[in-house]
This record gives sequence, C-alpha cells and structure tokens, in this order.
Amino acid sequence: MPLHELLGNQHMHTPYSDGEGYHAEIAQAAINAGLDYIIVTDHNILVEGIAPYHFSEDKKKRVLVMTGEEVHDTSLLPQSNHLLVYNTGRELAACAYDTQLLIDEVNRSGGMCFCAHPFDYTSKLIDYEPINWRRWDVKGFHGLEIWNYMSEFVRLTTTVQNAIKYARQPDLGIAGPNPDTLKKWDELTASGLKIVGIGNSDAHATKVTKFGHSAVIFPYEMLFRAVNTHLLVNEGLNGDIDHDSKLIYAALRDGHCFIGYDHPAPTRGFRFSAQGEKGAAIMGDEINMGAGVTLQVSVPAKAEIRLLRNGSVIAKRDADTHLMHIADKPGVYRLEAYIDFKGQKRGWIFSNPIYIR
Ligand SMILES: [Zn+2]
Ligand SMILES: [Zn+2]
Repeated sequence: MPLHELLGNQHMHTPYSDGEGYHAEIAQAAINAGLDYIIVTDHNILVEGIAPYHFSEDKKKRVLVMTGEEVHDTSLLPQSNHLLVYNTGRELAACAYDTQLLIDEVNRSGGMCFCAHPFDYTSKLIDYEPINWRRWDVKGFHGLEIWNYMSEFVRLTTTVQNAIKYARQPDLGIAGPNPDTLKKWDELTASGLKIVGIGNSDAHATKVTKFGHSAVIFPYEMLFRAVNTHLLVNEGLNGDIDHDSKLIYAALRDGHCFIGYDHPAPTRGFRFSAQGEKGAAIMGDEINMGAGVTLQVSVPAKAEIRLLRNGSVIAKRDADTHLMHIADKPGVYRLEAYIDFKGQKRGWIFSNPIYIR
C-alpha cells in the first residue's frame, strides 16, 4: 500500500489568461496552504519556462509548479467543452476546433486530459452561462473534474445578497460536487470505462467591483485550503523534476487519488482499499472478484460514509470513521463521506473507484 500522500490542485489561472496572480505568487499561496504541487492551466496557452520549485522564505517548504492548459474552441458560443490538458510538452490550443482531434493529440503526446466543470451552474445575476461539457461522443479522455469549487460558488449567486454573503463566506454555501457530474461519472465507469475523478479550485483571484463593493474574491490561498486532489504514491517527492513530475502524472493517470474538501476538517489520511484472494488494490485499480473482495474504508474524522456500487449506495455508516464491506459482485465501487459543518451536511471526501472485475 502506498505510504505517501501528495496534496495538489490542477486547475488555476494567471494573467496569461484571466487570472490575477503570476506563478510565483500562486506558488507562495500553495506553500502557505500546504500543497505539494500545482498545475497551472491558463486558457488556450501552455506557459513554459516557469521555475519548477518554489520555496518558502525560510526555505523549509517547497512546492512543485507544473503547467498545463485549459483548452476550448473560442469560436463556440455559448462556451463549452473546457478540457484540462496535462503533460503534453507542447501547445495544443490549435487543435481546439475539433475536440476528438485535440484528445487524440493529447494521447499522442503522452499527456492526459480531463473534462473541466462538465456540469456547470448558471447565474442570471452575474450573467453567467454554464460552460458545460457537451461532447460526450468523444473517446480517450482520462477523467472528469468532479468538483470545481468556483463552479459551485456560481450556484449560490441567486440574489445580490447571496452573492455578497457567499463571496465573503463560501463555507456557508459550498455543499459538494454537482450531482449531475457524479451521475455521469457513475454512468461512464459502469459502462466499462476507467474514468479518473479530480477536484480543483479553478482559482482566478478575480477583482470584483460590483454592488458598490470592490474586493478580490476567492484569493488563491483560500481556495488551496478548500477542494484539492490527494495522490497516493509509493515514494515522496525528492526535488528532482523528472522524478517528481513522473510520480504525480502517473498517480493522476491511474486514479490513485481522492478529492478532499478541507474547510470542514482535514481530509489527509483517508484510505479506501480492497483485498482479494490474489492481491490488493487501491483507488483507481482493478481487482479480480474471485471468491470475494474485502473493501476497507478509513476516514480521518467521524462522518457519514457511503459506499456506492455502480452509482447506488449499498452500505452506509453514520458518525463513524470506518466501513468494511465484503463485495460479492463485480462492479465499480467508490466512496463518499459527508460531514456536519456550519449547520449543514457537506460533501467532504470523494474517492476514485476500485473496479472489481
Ligand atoms: Zn473552464
Ligand atoms: Zn478554468
């Protein structure tokens, strides 16, 4: 079983597209929030030549800064099909006009890609059209952005009062991934595909002047303390860019990860694993059904734990830290944990599936 857990965020913007802070500033925010790595994804531009390691002032902490891009066809209105592209080593925005070609080129380059905010929210108040994924006919993408923190905020902007309230205290509103996204994820994985789920900030640190107020809403550091992706890896980062980036991209590709929302309580330490007759598996892995598979869940604080098979809840624990289940059927098993926070049950931890074949 992997011993190391890396905390990272794979979706954010700088002034190279529509964000406010440059890489060095974002890196400091990531260090302050305790992240191990970030992948900066500006719209339709792969920014190269960024120093990979950034250090805290006392040099005791370090974050790895990698760059990918968020590619979309700018001629499409309303906007749709935002694709997060990682580890291609080359600019692919020129392929944006054809989503399947774009994905094929990502794969040809040895990279990987995730559909961003596939089920986005709309807001009449801020005149925001949802930027959904519409091309479900394409093949070859690696995963979905299951939880996009900024997209969820849009859901809360129903009135001027609510927009101001939740911009100041998003915790009062943020409740979990879009249920339509989870449903789609379950559909895709139940059909036999391996689809990796990740969680992101989509940070822009936007300066907003509206309703007589002017402020930076959702600064990078606040968002990096919210929804992140936790990778489980066999060794830690060692400061060698080649070694470290390979480790991170392999874990992302394999789905050896879970999504955690740390505002209610730290999610570090969550584990979901399977033990079969002939071997063991962690999130993202496949395992043979054989005579039975034992699934083990451990969450770092008391929560409502739900085990799902092909999208349906098959086991549940209330106010508990552990769940054990003997699976006697093949299927796609994943875990959700909900926690009470600020007067409401909040989505807290979402695992990648274990695929029992
Ligand atoms: Zn986007
Ligand atoms: Zn974005």
